[in-house]
Amino acid sequence: MIIKQITPFLVDRFLLVRVYTDQGIVGNGEAGLWAHQKTVYHAIQELSQYYIGKDPTRIEHHYQAVSRNTHFMGAVLNAAISAIDVALWDILGQSVDLPVYQLLGGKCRDRIRVFNNVSGNTLADLAKSAVQNVENGFTSLRASPFFPGWESQPSTQVISTAVEIVRTIRQAVGDEIDLGLEIHRNLAPDAAIVLANELLPFKILYYEDPLAPQSVDALDYVARHVHIPIATGERFYNIQQFKDLIDRKTVSLIRPDVSLAGGITQCKKIAALAEASFVGIFPHLMGSPVNIAAFAQLDASIPNYVLMESNTGADAFNEIVIQPLERDAGYLVVPDRPGIGVEIDESKLEKFPYKPSQISGNFGADGAVTH
Ligand SMILES: [Mg+2]
Repeated sequence: MIIKQITPFLVDRFLLVRVYTDQGIVGNGEAGLWAHQKTVYHAIQELSQYYIGKDPTRIEHHYQAVSRNTHFMGAVLNAAISAIDVALWDILGQSVDLPVYQLLGGKCRDRIRVFNNVSGNTLADLAKSAVQNVENGFTSLRASPFFPGWESQPSTQVISTAVEIVRTIRQAVGDEIDLGLEIHRNLAPDAAIVLANELLPFKILYYEDPLAPQSVDALDYVARHVHIPIATGERFYNIQQFKDLIDRKTVSLIRPDVSLAGGITQCKKIAALAEASFVGIFPHLMGSPVNIAAFAQLDASIPNYVLMESNTGADAFNEIVIQPLERDAGYLVVPDRPGIGVEIDESKLEKFPYKPSQISGNFGADGAVTH
């Protein structure tokens, strides 16, 4: 079997890829660098010249060849390689009539626990959303403790409001529900420490991305001064970045993204590095029903999977795949179909024209960029 053709598709806010073989098997994948899809689209086209004519089942070999050829790597190229890598695993699974998780060692779980986001622009709406999510079967919730316009407010007010938001949600759902916080890289180190210490009574499961991701040293500083588990890594794109994070014991949870951090090939290894240090895997999931299916294969096969976003917004795009994954309240059902378990239906893609992400910026009351 050889690879005949690789075609990327820009679909709404997603970048999908299909890898066609000479035996009629077609692999499906998705890239996860959502802010710059068109750049990754062109990277996939450029990298295709390496893959065409090659055996699609030599997945590790291809990852090594492409990523080490020039050593000009980064998020764009890794997102492109990741999308193709997932499609190659899909081809391998289909070629032997097994789900990808079987090729990775078999299922560690039958269903995948997912969290849902609490939404609302008032305290009352947040409480209502949290309760609604619990009624819908979610036992794990995530909130971002900021209201719109927070960038223009004094830091003291931002922190006070954040504490009120978390108190409101915790009181609404009680202590039997997990509650994690998404800080969205919004804070400077000292503000992150002050806020985390205020939040200690509310039993927070994780404190996600308090800082911009460029400095692990800065995150180390925060981690040494707070007592809430820290989660990060959704912008990381290679195994070495994750190893550094794990070795420093900075975080309790890491957030590899199968569609950015080297596909299933590298994320399986990243998960093993984390396992050896009792660090949990909390995958970063954006994207379409294709990504949901690909992530589910990895989640099912690793012992240290913890949680993933439900990504229910992607359900509006279920018709772009044949047999989207089933949900079971706060869980995803692991499908037993071959490969990643879904197939892109190319005839439906035209219904969802490409919607490029816009660069907009975040500005404070003085007009300066805040974060
Ligand atoms: Mg995040």
